[in-house]
Amino acid sequence: MQIPFNRLFLTGRELELIKDAINRESITGAGYYTRMAQQWLEEKLLADKVFLTTSATGALEMAVLLCGLKPGDEVIMPSFTFVSTANAVLRSGARPIFAEINAQTFNLDVEDVARRINHNTRAIIPVHYAGVACDMDALLNLARSRDITIIEDAAQALNATYKGSYLGTIGELGCYSFHGTKNYTCGEGGALVINQAELKERAEVIWEKGTDRQRFLAGEVDRYTWRDIGSSFAPSDILAAFLCAQLQETSTITNRRQRVYQRYYRELKPLQEEGLLQLPNIPDYAEPNYHIFYIVLPSPVRRNMVMVELHNRGIAATFHFVPLHTSPMGARLGYKAGDFPLTEEFSNRLLRLPIYPDMSDTEQEYVIEQLRECLEQFSHD
Ligand SMILES: *Cc1c(COP(=O)(O)O)cnc(C)c1O
Repeated sequence: MQIPFNRLFLTGRELELIKDAINRESITGAGYYTRMAQQWLEEKLLADKVFLTTSATGALEMAVLLCGLKPGDEVIMPSFTFVSTANAVLRSGARPIFAEINAQTFNLDVEDVARRINHNTRAIIPVHYAGVACDMDALLNLARSRDITIIEDAAQALNATYKGSYLGTIGELGCYSFHGTKNYTCGEGGALVINQAELKERAEVIWEKGTDRQRFLAGEVDRYTWRDIGSSFAPSDILAAFLCAQLQETSTITNRRQRVYQRYYRELKPLQEEGLLQLPNIPDYAEPNYHIFYIVLPSPVRRNMVMVELHNRGIAATFHFVPLHTSPMGARLGYKAGDFPLTEEFSNRLLRLPIYPDMSDTEQEYVIEQLRECLEQFSHD
């Protein structure tokens, strides 16, 4: 049996809405379906303003522009993240400062963040790994007393909450991804959530290539002109139409993923009790969106053996992230292996199992059975 790591889940309305976008001749950015998706998100999240972007990378870049970062400024983030978190900061000339993760959720270790704050610190970018919330109250406490902006990298975390608030709506700015590997997708896409009203007007200009075109369209000015720095952040309305078809079914998608997640958890629990693996921890304050199901193996060697063996049996289990501080670019920033021991250890012991909304019972049984077999076999070596 071949089990992919991820499989595109269609809600059934994607083509219909794309066709409608074309019939409306709405194919550029900021069109009918873009406004619909933004409004849908604003109402769901109770957010001031949401801008669709071409990716979470774009949303992070927009957030960084809004913060007005400059050379010499520092931004604290985990090393255990995707490259875009750090690239967005580097592009502004500011410096990414990596911090350690905690062993419970693989999210930022707040005490380590506190140690790295100095008079150059302008922002913190918490990453909600696997759609499980960071300890936001602790981070807000650190930031608010010092005028530090919080940009949530909620790329994996739409529809997940912290103490009942949606992730992405807690810091000043929040970034989502609709990349094909994420829960709710349009292939390539993202969104920036503006949670601080003062940032809204400037965000609109940055989103519109540095112009006040949105005010022109609203009839507030008689022509539009260059006002500020900006870029082309808006996706085509064709993609927004696809996204609307997905957003309408976020609960269906989340519930289906939850079912798969909980079954893995239930059936692998006995293996945890035998000490063969460690299952994810979800703190009481977090309601996840079941983006990732991972296990932690007892050693890097065991992880690699299990991964290869699962691949041999047709199961596309994967790992991530290569810690940013151990990459060639990390070295250019002055970091080296050994700087963040927990990050390195978990990145080397973590294994992600296939999870997608329409995973069948047969497929999942196969994964669980093969994994159990590998683990029991290796534990006798
Ligand atoms: C996926 C991801 C991104 C990038 O998302 P894109 O939409 O592909 O740009 C950024 N940060 C994290 C944590 C991610 O998982």
